[in-house]
Order: sequence, then structure tokens, then C-alpha cells
Amino acid sequence: YNDKFKVKRQAEKVLHHSVNNYKAHPIVVGKSTSVYDAIVQLFLEDVGTLYAVDSDGHLAGVISRKDLLRASLGNQNLSELPVSVIMTRMPNIITIYPEETLLEAAKKMIQNHIDSLPVVREADEQKNTYLLVGRITKTTITKAYLEMMDEKSD
Ligand code: ADP
Repeated sequence: YNDKFKVKRQAEKVLHHSVNNYKAHPIVVGKSTSVYDAIVQLFLEDVGTLYAVDSDGHLAGVISRKDLLRASLGNQNLSELPVSVIMTRMPNIITIYPEETLLEAAKKMIQNHIDSLPVVREADEQKNTYLLVGRITKTTITKAYLEMMDEKSD
């Protein structure tokens, strides 16, 4: 019984760690990159989601596996089709700040049925533009839990 409480306390502790300490490298493409090149990039980088940026380096879109699959159905020329046509665009992107917690990240992913979140800093408050500083995925949360379990058995 005591042990159950201990695990719960540890789990709560993990989820209150900040996103900044767990974020991974974001894989970024320019928004005029072709769907064909984006698919190649997805395999090369071994990720599930790519982020598109505009010419100022500001976050412009999210490109997931399903977005790429949808675009690949039909007989479009994938090397002529820019990702900007198929991506989820600003202001519809769910983002997270480095100071927020893993708990907030987990909630945003579950509530919005998405696999990952771009970690951002505000670039220009007025224009609502963001710079990419990382990414958080469902795997990030799982990894944090596994680390906690390892520490516990020490
Ligand atoms: P998959 O397509 O591999 O299932 P997701 O579940 O993450 O990956 O993506 C589902 C849809 O949600 C896609 O259309 C994608 O563009 C969009 N999406 C993914 N991440 C975000 C995000 N952080 N904010 C807004 N939309 C997103």
C-alpha cells in the first residue's frame, strides 16, 4: 500500500518536470519543400512529424504521417506539391513553451489527439509569431516514466 503511494508521488514528480529538460530536436523543413522531399526527410530523420518554417524561420506548419499519406493518395506529382498546401497551419497549431510541464504537454496531446507538440518561444508578440526550440512527443513522456522507474530501483 505504501509502495503504491510512493509510485504515485514519483509519477507526479516526473510530470511536473519542465518541458525544457526533456525536449528533443525539432526536424524542420522550409514551407516550400515538396511533399516528396518531406517524405524522404521523415525516413532519414526517423521521426513522425516535421515542422515547416517560413523564410523568417518562424513556425508555419505541422506535417504528420497522415498528412503525407493523404497527399500521396491520388495522382498528384509529389515533387511539385509544396508542403504548405497540405500542412496544418498557424494559428491552428497547438504549441507549448519550454517553461511548461510534461503534465501540460501530455494533456495537450491527449485532448487534441496529436502525437507531438512544437516547443516554441515568442518571436514577435504582436504578430503572433514563434521560433521553434524543440519538440515533445508521446515517447518523451514514456521515456520520462521509464527513467523514474530506473531511479526508483536504485
Ligand atoms: P499522425 O498523422 O501520424 O497520426 P498526429 O496524430 O500527430 O500524427 O496528427 C494528426 C493531425 O493533427 C495531422 O493532420 C497533423 O497535421 C495535426 N497535428 C499534429 N500535431 C499538431 C499540433 N501540435 N497542432 C495542431 N495540429 C497538429
